[in-house]
Amino acid sequence: MRAFDFAVARTVPEALARGGAGTAYLAGGTTLVDLMKLEVLTPRHVVDINHLPLRGVHADRDGLHVGALERMSDVADHPLVAHPYPVISQALRASASPQLRNMASIGGNLLQRTRCGYYRDTATACNRRTPGSGCAAIGGENRGHAILGTSDACVAAHPSDLAVALVALDASVLLTGRAGTRELRLADLYRLPGETPHLEHDLRPGELIARVTVPPLDWARRSAYLKVRDRTSYEFALASAAVAVSLRGGLVRDVRVAVGGVGTRPWRLPAVEEALRGRAPRPEVVEAAAERAVAGARPLAHNAFKLTLLRRTITRALLSLTE
Ligand code: SF4
Repeated sequence: MRAFDFAVARTVPEALARGGAGTAYLAGGTTLVDLMKLEVLTPRHVVDINHLPLRGVHADRDGLHVGALERMSDVADHPLVAHPYPVISQALRASASPQLRNMASIGGNLLQRTRCGYYRDTATACNRRTPGSGCAAIGGENRGHAILGTSDACVAAHPSDLAVALVALDASVLLTGRAGTRELRLADLYRLPGETPHLEHDLRPGELIARVTVPPLDWARRSAYLKVRDRTSYEFALASAAVAVSLRGGLVRDVRVAVGGVGTRPWRLPAVEEALRGRAPRPEVVEAAAERAVAGARPLAHNAFKLTLLRRTITRALLSLTE
């Protein structure tokens, strides 16, 4: 690990004053410390933000608000989350391990780095880690990589389960920086890799996620997160689906579908949603709608199985709510 200096911030202005290029904020540390040990990330300054007043879970007429420093396990079990928004709770419980969920923060989860093995191996080419060096995954081992939103520079899948659930629910993040605060749809925070995969999101230098807000959606009680992976614990998704359905008179009044494990960012599927609205959610209707999920997909040498897996994951998740 490279040498760095360390400070503890007690207030948001103090943290922001220390933030900027060369500085990393430390919350749970479950991604940052790993990557510093591997010398994938080499910040010169680390600022501990765990004492900032960015905690709390509450609900009001604007929706559900979750402080960015809340721990994943606490949010998963919170009654304001678990009952009104099961998709969030299930996505959190499907993430990592109990020990990691006790440590990891909500903000940190949303900003976690890709699990592409080449990104973490400094002996290999990786445009995301070292811009312009190439992408070892495209001609290498790419079974777990993305099929949606990829570019010739990077094909890494976005790793967060929580982000998939939040994108399905149209969540936003409150960002705070030296220039003030701003609210951004979570879906707009993440960039496609394009030619610049090292630029993963639209946070400005030194900006922090302060809070996550989920707009009111009473029918989110009928929601679910289905994650398919190689083992049932402590594993990242090969494909996942966050779904919510509102039914009226046996027909789909409204629906949300977002998927993970297959996209370079959390992937909302408006075409699938459109194919379901106003229809009776019979298996053949749901299967036909799920076909739309893979339009434009670009499978790699080892992950074409995700085309079928993704369709089946969406179908199963939706039918679990409607049958
Ligand atoms: Fe790096 Fe992206 Fe290629 Fe993985 S897929 S090696 S993260 S550039």
